[in-house]
Amino acid sequence: MATEIASIFIIMTTTKLVIIGGVAAGASCAARARRLNEFAQITLIERGPDVSFANCGLPYFIGGEIPERDALAVQTPDSLKAMLNLDVRTHTEAVAVDRAGKRVQLRHLPAGTTEWIAYDKLVLAPGAVPVRPPLPGIDDPRLFTLRSLADMDRIKAAAASAQRVTVIGAGFIGLEMAEQFIRLGKQVTLVELQNQVLPLLDPLMTRLMEDELRRHGVTLILGDSVERFAGGATLTCHLKSGRAVDTDLVVLCIGVRPDTALAREAGLTLGSRGHIRVNGFMQTSDPDIYAAGDAVETEDFVSHELTAVPLGGPANRQGRLAADHIFRPAQTRPYPGALGTAIVRAFDVAAGLTGWSEKRLQAAGRPYRAVLVNDNHHANYFPGAKPLLLKLLWAPDTGQVLGAQVTGLAGVDKRLDVIATAIAGGLTIDDLAQLELAYAPPFGAAKDLVNLAGFTAANVRDGLVTPVTELPDDPAVQILDMRPAALVQTHPLPRNHVINIPFPTLRQQLDKLDRNRPVVTVCALGKTSYFGARILAQHGFNVQSLIGGIRAHYDPRTPAKLPTP
Ligand SMILES: Cc1cc2nc3c(=O)[nH]c(=O)nc-3n(C[C@H](O)[C@H](O)[C@H](O)COP(=O)(O)OP(=O)(O)OC[C@H]3O[C@@H](n4cnc5c(N)ncnc54)[C@H](O)[C@@H]3O)c2cc1C
Repeated sequence: MATEIASIFIIMTTTKLVIIGGVAAGASCAARARRLNEFAQITLIERGPDVSFANCGLPYFIGGEIPERDALAVQTPDSLKAMLNLDVRTHTEAVAVDRAGKRVQLRHLPAGTTEWIAYDKLVLAPGAVPVRPPLPGIDDPRLFTLRSLADMDRIKAAAASAQRVTVIGAGFIGLEMAEQFIRLGKQVTLVELQNQVLPLLDPLMTRLMEDELRRHGVTLILGDSVERFAGGATLTCHLKSGRAVDTDLVVLCIGVRPDTALAREAGLTLGSRGHIRVNGFMQTSDPDIYAAGDAVETEDFVSHELTAVPLGGPANRQGRLAADHIFRPAQTRPYPGALGTAIVRAFDVAAGLTGWSEKRLQAAGRPYRAVLVNDNHHANYFPGAKPLLLKLLWAPDTGQVLGAQVTGLAGVDKRLDVIATAIAGGLTIDDLAQLELAYAPPFGAAKDLVNLAGFTAANVRDGLVTPVTELPDDPAVQILDMRPAALVQTHPLPRNHVINIPFPTLRQQLDKLDRNRPVVTVCALGKTSYFGARILAQHGFNVQSLIGGIRAHYDPRTPAKLPTP
């Protein structure tokens, strides 16, 4: 007992904690460590000039939406010294770890002088670096990547004299950059290898975003990639398709790779893609060395397989957790795994996901079921209601929620966060159906979209409706469009041989349908077609319903109602 108390006392008083990397995971770790231990010697090593800056805000300063550069510098070395008594060393690179001697070699930049400092516990938070593929012309000075405040300053300066801007990669950062360059009045081309923007999402869930980008003047080139850049007075991006895009400036947003050379040289175990392997307490293969943030591989929350999620939320929480385990191991709960919850806004549209997508489930060969539901973000009758589309994926055997994607003009974040919490709590589709969420007309609906997703999923599971995800080409199938005739005329379906029976008259017109041929019911949002399918099923028809309606599958802005005269 006495030895135990003595060793706790030693940890509390003399621990030398060295943290490499001073942004999200590193700074978070340092701050938590200080709050747990006033007496530890905490040294924060950062290769760059800045610590604890808001890299998620970088695109918005380039576009001017965040007007003050200082707003991005969340902390400075001086403020960290004053607030947290940290020894912050910027312009300092950790170049070697001597695990046996428990010391780290530092190189002071730009002088190049070196020194060794000792540690009791070491935390690696080196983050990731943007991918720069070795394409011909990649070293042209008009090509940029965005990771740091210095990168941001360079892009902002170059953009001032550029008219044509090309963004390569339509992931989250690529979309933010495209939006901000349009804000600056540039001619923007966005090139993406996949046939859709936001490749982490399922294709239908990105249609509205693609439409929004085009409506704001972004030239979208999907399913194509850059093969080489050719310099000269004009910079030209030569694409695989043969297309050439002349531009004044290129920003590469094609992903990141973990910055883990130091960990590799220190002999720590790395994953197949170079991430640092950690346990639930963020300990590497050396228990005195922790790692957190974009550089690590953790468990996936849903599958418990290894995954790497380069996002700000996980980085901050992992850094904090590492500090917890160093200073109060007995009370520390392990990292539960990553969900990959992410969201992006471009102009008026937001899109995001949490957990697993359908394409990821398919690629992994995991069983799943999916539904698509449309509704407004708050009560339809309250002014300002905006449409939302939600896709929900769940496990057929247990009903457990596996993932969701949401897109729309308002309230996307709220639905994603509710479902992320539901997944974290192990909830099922039946639980979603019964969630009691905040409701008053300006905020939501008595049956929120999340409840609707639960209802719809349970209806599908229980066989009350059989969903289809595309209109059949087979003329033997009767396609029953249940919208008002005027809407059918102004927004026709992309199929011939469609029978139009508006829903309110269906019960009176059942004789217009052939009972011996299958029927697929269709409407704008997928709700009325479900109502119709229930009537037909109870009259003995073999009926299926286009889930998510025309809006989900064919036209992301199709109106649900006739315009008011
Ligand atoms: C433009 C942009 C927008 C983003 N937007 C979002 C968003 O909206 N939402 C979201 O969740 N995430 C977003 N992210 C991702 C998020 O910023 C990262 O996941 C997060 O910063 C990772 O934190 P980290 O501490 O692991 O790494 P980093 O933030 O990369 O910090 C690592 C630091 O370690 C330093 N370092 C590395 N090696 C050494 C060494 N040997 N010696 C000394 N120092 C070293 C590096 O210089 C770097 O400053 C965005 C990222 C960018 C670039």
